[in-house]
Amino acid sequence: MISIAIDGPSGAGKSSIARRVAARLGYVYVDTGALYRAIALFAHRSGIADTDEKALAPRLGEIEVELAYQEGKQHVFLGGEDVSEEIRRPEMSMAASQVSAQPAVRAFLLELQRQMADKYNVIMDGRDIGTVVLPKADLKIYLTASAEDRALRRHQEFLKRGEDISYDEVLTDINRRDYNDIHREIAPLCRAKDAVLLDTTGNTLEQSVALVEQTIREQLGL
Ligand code: C5P
Repeated sequence: MISIAIDGPSGAGKSSIARRVAARLGYVYVDTGALYRAIALFAHRSGIADTDEKALAPRLGEIEVELAYQEGKQHVFLGGEDVSEEIRRPEMSMAASQVSAQPAVRAFLLELQRQMADKYNVIMDGRDIGTVVLPKADLKIYLTASAEDRALRRHQEFLKRGEDISYDEVLTDINRRDYNDIHREIAPLCRAKDAVLLDTTGNTLEQSVALVEQTIREQLGL
């Protein structure tokens, strides 16, 4: 099986780009952020604060989180319910960042992520895929862009979905999440030594998709 790891900060376009490139290559696209978001949703629904590791850790065994694919699109199921839309709400981003700093949560999701890479040719995106989840990935990419560029993209996504949120709020959220993800003790966001660095600042989505696809084809000789 071939695995391609794409890591990078929030809003760098990882999901939009990886999904399209995976479709072109016939690979399964695994969005691991969605798994952390599903755990955050479970915590919310259970009345557990995002930072309350003592309360959340003993409940992890109850959580049934699954990934399924319909017409190439990843759906996340929590206890059999499709929560793919709900986990995209703006407040779930910060909540996911908080729960993802908990070692028990990371350990809980590690196996699920590795199983996907054992079963399928994958493009997997996240924060620690090249460093922790798939350290032997065939190719690692670290995808980044300026914070302003990333906030602009996220803001446009929210507006399209009818969320009432300002650009400044999104930028503040992105900066806070970057800080959390980079500074947490366990599996912090960082570029793997052997990752190819790609900066998509100023690119259109099409340009970024072409850049990533070309990099993969060149590096893997496809
Ligand atoms: O990628 P997305 O924005 O959906 O991720 C939500 C949060 O989940 C991130 O801010 C990050 O804290 C966490 N995450 C992580 N490790 C991953 C993927 C996401 O810690 N592999």
